Amino acid sequence: MKAYAVLEGATEISEITLPTPVPVGSEVVLRVLHSGVCHSDTHLLEGGYDLGARGMMLLKDRGVPYPLVLGHEVVGTVERVGPQASPELVGKTLLVFPWIGCGECSTCRAGHDNACTDGRMLGVQRQGGYAEYISVPHEKYLVNISGLDPAWAATLACSGLTSYSAVNKVRALDPDDAVVIIGAGGLGLTAIAMLNARGHRHTIAVDLSEPNLKLAMEMGATATVPADSPTLSAAIVEAAGGPVAAVIDFVNGTATAIHGFDALRKGGLLVHVGLFGGELTIPTVLLPVKMLTLQGSYVGNLTELRELVDLAKAGALPHIPIIDGRLDATGVADSLARLVERRVAGRIVLSAEQAPDSGELTARR
Ligand SMILES: [Zn+2]
Ligand SMILES: [Zn+2]
Repeated sequence: MKAYAVLEGATEISEITLPTPVPVGSEVVLRVLHSGVCHSDTHLLEGGYDLGARGMMLLKDRGVPYPLVLGHEVVGTVERVGPQASPELVGKTLLVFPWIGCGECSTCRAGHDNACTDGRMLGVQRQGGYAEYISVPHEKYLVNISGLDPAWAATLACSGLTSYSAVNKVRALDPDDAVVIIGAGGLGLTAIAMLNARGHRHTIAVDLSEPNLKLAMEMGATATVPADSPTLSAAIVEAAGGPVAAVIDFVNGTATAIHGFDALRKGGLLVHVGLFGGELTIPTVLLPVKMLTLQGSYVGNLTELRELVDLAKAGALPHIPIIDGRLDATGVADSLARLVERRVAGRIVLSAEQAPDSGELTARR
């Protein structure tokens, strides 16, 4: 099969030929129809994450196999199943849950595959969706998306799930407690809409882009703050009418995290989501004195993805704009370049079928 992969030491996408996966045991092989392009793929292409003064966290030192086939927002049609999988799955179009763990440790048994220390995440630690076929270890990781636009449904596996799981972490708040969303791109806007749909009445959006802040108000934010404000934490506190109960930082860089931290009230919660990189230097004594919680949130678990797909089927999720592209080496490379240059308003989803002949990316809602 054709696959669009990162070779070891390379920082570009190459078209390579890999053996078409043959399912054994409980495995299911799908023909890839749609593959969403995620900003985290650009970090994987760069080979690691920015750890601030600690340098880079290199993926090759963390057991990421090369050639690496990225792509973790995948909808495909089941082509073949192993002898221990259900034969009636063949021909069905399903969404793949990619955040797969070892399946055996206590974390996995508790349903938190995404937190497994021996993860087998598709598109990160195992071959992902920038290829003609993808192999999934068990049918339990496949989610029925009947009735949904399959290209949009693909984005639920990472973009939607990441927002949903982050919002779940501030679930216990009073509806009038202030929640700050830093980064009103696709994920932040989705989070604002989810908070709104849950009856939350006090959400403040922070972003550099004026159009994004306008969209945030349309999605249900009650106030906005420009991220380039010289005294950002003070501006957030002023917009919120006081120090805030929770901040969800979808950027999570050196320049944002400290302002989120400084805006927290006593007992406040800072949820770190973005992979922008950098570091946060804080006075340790403020943690006990203000009883603060710092919590990381990485994608979400399978139960959350099923809940999210049910919300989508009920029409309770906002449709982020989808930008069509073709699933080939050029389509993957161009999409990642556009993400690096911050030229994407919405989500690029590459398709193996119905792709435009020109190779140009076209936007649709
Ligand atoms: Zn992602
Ligand atoms: Zn595990």
